[in-house]
Formats: sequence, structure tokens, C-alpha cells
Amino acid sequence: MTDRTTSSVTVLGLGLMGRALADAFLKAGHPTTVWNRTDSKAASLVAGGARLAPTPADALRPDTLAILCLTDYRAVHEVLGADGVELRGTTLINLTSGSSAQARETARWAEERGARYLDGAVMAVPPSIGTPEATILHSGPVDLFATHEPTLAALGTVTHLGDDPGLASLYDAAGLTMMWSVLNAWLQGTALLRTAGVDAATYAPFARRIAMGVADWLPGYAEQIDSNTFTAEVAALETDARAMAHLIEESEALGVDAELPKLLKAMADRAIAAGHGGEQYPVLIEEFTRPGGN
Ligand code: NAP
Repeated sequence: MTDRTTSSVTVLGLGLMGRALADAFLKAGHPTTVWNRTDSKAASLVAGGARLAPTPADALRPDTLAILCLTDYRAVHEVLGADGVELRGTTLINLTSGSSAQARETARWAEERGARYLDGAVMAVPPSIGTPEATILHSGPVDLFATHEPTLAALGTVTHLGDDPGLASLYDAAGLTMMWSVLNAWLQGTALLRTAGVDAATYAPFARRIAMGVADWLPGYAEQIDSNTFTAEVAALETDARAMAHLIEESEALGVDAELPKLLKAMADRAIAAGHGGEQYPVLIEEFTRPGGN
């Protein structure tokens, strides 16, 4: 179990997520200062023992450990660039969602002003904050993460991904594409089955087994990608492409949207045209690395 400390923390941004973060720090016994542009959102936290800072400059004093959770990086720059803010000596942990480029740029910008900076991504919903189910990713200097990990552990399961401050945002993006792709695939199947009177709840456990089975393929497929060898051990890409054509036909015949399987088949067809039809499915990584086959 991670040791909990009672270091002081400051949370800037008290939207749905920021309030959950501040509340978790308070519940873990950390003296907590909060700041929000609309200060009424701090009321329940102040009632729970938080100190409300009147301005960002007051919230960000030297030696402050500050967690930022704002709408976007533009808001982060507005708050950190506000009148009188002095970043020298502060530690900033930015859990605002954004791109890897924004994370790297903000890390450089903050370090030039004398702050230490970790970027982060919250892969969780507010009600899970403060429980092990909340995954919070961090990237940036590992020594900085190690220093503050006992405090950050109040928020959930915290992980350091590497020194590159852009990594947390990239993992966040990778997680999002996984989430929406799995959900859309499930919705496509659900739409097909509903044409035969099968309801979503009946199909869901079957879909879950398929998704879990596919997930088990990932380590072996990752080895193929990392070694750049795509031997067809289970099926050749052209076999998959024939099944994709069948999925498109079935969808169109039943009046179900076929855009998703058409997208899958277009990628497979490009790889086959490039001579990869006899190789295994992960050879499609080349289509993702060279969009449109360019
Ligand atoms: P939210 O409820 O909309 O809150 C946005 C916060 O940003 C508010 O505190 C708002 O202040 C502040 N803000 C926006 N523009 C500002 C500006 N120019 N200057 C000062 N403050 C500004 O959003 P949220 O759900 O808390 O999300 C915050 C971050 O967490 C986002 O990057 C989001 O992607 C990420 N996240 C959220 C969830 C989730 O489930 N909610 C999950 C994962 C990640 P006011 O109160 O004054 O408007």
C-alpha cells in the first residue's frame, strides 16, 4: 500500500473534475487550497475545510504543489499568466486534457519560468476519484513524480509513463480511440441483431466475450509489430478482407449503417494492394503510420 502524506496541495479549477480532485485531497487529510474563476463552486469544499484563494497569484505561492484541472490548455495559460502570478519555486501538475504538443509546450513554458512541471491525464469519471478505479497518468521528470506520488495517490491509481511530458496525453488519446472503437463495433453488432429481434442486453454478454478474446491477442500482435514480421499464423489479411465484405453486404441488406465496416475494408484493401494480403492483421499498422498509404 502507498504511504499517504499530509502535504499541502492547491487545486486550480473546480469544475466537475477539479471539485472531485480537491474533495479527495481533503478526505485524505491534505490541507487543501482551492481557486476557481467562479468562486461559488468552491462552497462545498470550503465547508469541508478547504481554504479559498482569492486569485491565482495568491493560490500559487513559492513551494506550492498545484494541481490544474481546467477546460483546456488555453485556460491553463490564462490562469498561469494572470496578474501577479510568480511560478518560480512552484510545482505544477497539469491534469487538464489536451494534446501531446500542448503538454510539451506548456512544460517548456513553465520550466522557463522556474516551475517544475508534470503533465497528466485523468482516465476516470469524477465519482471514481479517490478510489483505486480512478487511473491517473503522469509524464515528466521521474524524480518529481516520485516526490509527489504519495500525495497524488489520494486521487486513485497513479502511474508515471516516462520523462517526455507528452506521454500522458498520448496514452489518453490511445485510450480514447480504443474506447470509441470498441463501443462502435458493439453498436454495429447490436444494430444487426436488433433486425432479428435480439435486444442489446441479450447480445452484450456475447459481445463482451468477443472483446475480451480479441484483447488477449494484443500481446502477440504487439510482438509482430515491434519485430516488423507479420507471419499469418492464424489468418491472412485477405481472409479477413473477405469477411469484411460479408459484413458490409449483411449490413446493407438489413438497412444497418455500413460506414464502419467500409472503413475497415478500405484499409485492408490498401494493404492488400501494397502486397500484404498474405500477412497477418497487424500489418495494418503501416496504414495507420502512413495515412492513406502515402
Ligand atoms: P468543467 O466542469 O467544464 O470545468 C471546467 C473548469 O475550467 C471550471 O473550473 C472553469 O471555471 C475552468 N475554466 C475554463 N476556462 C477558464 C478560463 N479561461 N480561466 C479560468 N478558468 C477557466 O470540466 P471538467 O469536467 O471539470 O473537466 C476539466 C478537465 O478534466 C478537462 O480538461 C476534461 O477533459 C478533464 N477530464 C474530465 C473528465 C470528466 O468526466 N469530467 C474525465 C477526464 C478528464 P468556471 O467554473 O469559472 O467556469
